[in-house]
Amino acid sequence: MAKIDKSTIKDFNSTRISKKFLCNAPFCAMRFSISGLVSPCCHSFGLNDCYPNRNIRQIWDGSIFKEYRITIRNGQLPNSCTYCESRLKSKEFSLIPIRQFDDFKVRRIGRNNLQTLQLAISNRCNLKCPMCNEMFSSQYDQSDTFDSNNIYDEAFINELYEYIPHLNELICLGGEPFLINEYYDIWDKIISVNPSCRISVVTNGTVLNDRIKRLLELGNFSINLSFETIVKETYEKIRVNANYDTVIPNMEYFAKVLRQQGKTLQIPACALKSNSKEIPDLVRFCNEKEYHLTILTTYRDIDVAMWSLSSDQLKELKDYYIQQTFTTHDWNSNDNVSNFKNFISTVDRWISDAEKKENFQNIFDLKTDKVTDLKNRLFSNMEKCLKETSLSEDDFGKKREYVFGKWKRIMDSLPEYFESNHLYKILLQVSPYIIVEYMLRCNSQTMKKTLEEGFYYGFAH
Ligand code: SF4
Ligand code: SF4
Repeated sequence: MAKIDKSTIKDFNSTRISKKFLCNAPFCAMRFSISGLVSPCCHSFGLNDCYPNRNIRQIWDGSIFKEYRITIRNGQLPNSCTYCESRLKSKEFSLIPIRQFDDFKVRRIGRNNLQTLQLAISNRCNLKCPMCNEMFSSQYDQSDTFDSNNIYDEAFINELYEYIPHLNELICLGGEPFLINEYYDIWDKIISVNPSCRISVVTNGTVLNDRIKRLLELGNFSINLSFETIVKETYEKIRVNANYDTVIPNMEYFAKVLRQQGKTLQIPACALKSNSKEIPDLVRFCNEKEYHLTILTTYRDIDVAMWSLSSDQLKELKDYYIQQTFTTHDWNSNDNVSNFKNFISTVDRWISDAEKKENFQNIFDLKTDKVTDLKNRLFSNMEKCLKETSLSEDDFGKKREYVFGKWKRIMDSLPEYFESNHLYKILLQVSPYIIVEYMLRCNSQTMKKTLEEGFYYGFAH
């Protein structure tokens, strides 16, 4: 259990309307990952159940979700909620994922209380953005990955139907959701039996056709169009394979339809090195167009994400941001500017993280006296997950050989000081399911970068 002091919880609760529980997610939400890992949200890395080993009902009523609920009922967060824990401790209350679940009412647990469902069930995508990887985009080289089957077949969709009449929200992630066929079946079902259910789609904005236009008219869609900059050249370097001149009219179309329905187009933007200077102009653009902007503090990938700049570069950016001025004219533009100001607080945290990295030899526990013990614990946890998620003994044997062989090759390519107490202590805070999922799905280069991110920054970004 994470230890969060009472005064921090009190300060946080003073910013919320719903404060009965520190987080509502385990009482009302479920997220399915491409490999079948199931958790209350995309930030809870530690306690995961697994589909199709257990079906939706067994997972929702099962011991893993119960453990989340019990810990939260006791006024604390489970260890697997380090993402929210670190934001609570640094008082970044406005960015905390817990807020996404504040509007849901916690009722008696049962099928009817599954109110928000997040699906990331396929990586089918037409783009190859540098902050992405094989987990999320099929455009990435899958040659050095384990050949996994698609587990989200007709049986999954049929089982899901039982929950659809009670859902308030379905969140569809990708890949590019408008290229994922399974989503179309689910949307059709929602529109026919529960048309008021909000369908949130996170799209890259490159796909718009008559079928999508028709769905937008019929369903209660919320569109989150990922867009980082209004500079065409930078945009096309970030959204590799996308065409700026196609996306802008698509964006305007989505915004127009949503506006007719009294809704606002959402613009999630990743904070990267390449667009860091252009974020203020993106705020102005969204204000003028009446789009709602969220600046995502994405941690992938170490070569392109903004947090991996040096402390001096981050300080320079912070000074640049502080000098920016904006004009606001309504609730939306005020909120965009306020999100930008909150983002400056995040840059502050990154500066202190970068200083740690620059001084890591003095700060991290680079001793090796506990390595064997820590590594054995990690490997045994990973083996347990592999066994649990394998379809047969033979499948388990192949995956085991693949994962640990790859692990050795990756570690051999990293500096010697990685084989330290520090790395394994960090890894033991991450769900072994997630580590195994990445090892199977991502190629060696991606895994190497992921371990570097974890080593220098932890996994709580
Ligand atoms: S990571 Fe945050 S939002 Fe997710 S279940 Fe834990 S506390 Fe709730
Ligand atoms: S559009 Fe999204 S899923 Fe596709 S490559 Fe880019 S970040 Fe990844």
